[in-house]
Amino acid sequence: MPELPEVETIRRQLAPHVEGRVVQHLEILDPRFTLPLAPDEVVDAVEGRRVERLTRRGKYFIFELQDDVFLMVHLRMTGNLLLDPAPDTPYQRVIFTLDDGHVVRFCDPRRFGTGELAIGADALEAFFAGRLGIEPLGDELTGPRLKAMARNRRAPVKAFLLDQRHIAGVGNIYADEALFRARIHPLRPAGKLTGAQCAALADAVKVVLAAGIDAGGSTIDDFRHPDGVAGAFQNDFLVHLRRGEPCPTCGTAVIKLVAAGRGTYVCESCQPRPRIRRRP
Ligand SMILES: [Zn+2]
Repeated sequence: MPELPEVETIRRQLAPHVEGRVVQHLEILDPRFTLPLAPDEVVDAVEGRRVERLTRRGKYFIFELQDDVFLMVHLRMTGNLLLDPAPDTPYQRVIFTLDDGHVVRFCDPRRFGTGELAIGADALEAFFAGRLGIEPLGDELTGPRLKAMARNRRAPVKAFLLDQRHIAGVGNIYADEALFRARIHPLRPAGKLTGAQCAALADAVKVVLAAGIDAGGSTIDDFRHPDGVAGAFQNDFLVHLRRGEPCPTCGTAVIKLVAAGRGTYVCESCQPRPRIRRRP
């Protein structure tokens, strides 16, 4: 599943090709993409408008169009935006034809990806207000801020990190990698983290996301850049998908467990398991 670094990688590659271009033709082949709106409503709002900027919030792309029209695209499990792929590329759901002849195709085998519309800046704000928390790459994510957000939360810290309403854009891979670097067990209750742990975790989240972006994202499952090239961060995973391999810090075998319903990789020497207090 694409996470923030993969989305940001695609955005950076696509932006120079779409910004300033008019969407001459928008073809929505799968009406599920625009639910609850009908495809025609989205086509009417987008067609003929210039893309002023292609931005990102969490794992959403935002096509910022003329007249404060915004199209928010989410890749979900298997979506991808490809620039000028072969016209018969499989699993196409949406086709953007630009006024310079370039074509962006949204391909998505499992069809969970979405395209939602906001008319006006207030509608855009309202859309994200209930869905996304702070952007991890800006100045907002600090140890004290993280500690305040996690206060009284009994959920495991891994679940806390995956909840997009706290921090936007962190998914399974980068949560594992950040927790390992911060030496925090994924099952530790979020509200029990110390100030020092929160500071280490805030720092680790930024470091792993930045490293992921620098590597062009991670290529697992089907992730590809708009030009079809793959990312390389999977080669830099310290624990994720490394069950049985030696921890790069201490040599203990990495184990796999389930946290927040997701396969989770941990070195239980570097990331001590929280003690369970038994009732007397
Ligand atoms: Zn270790």
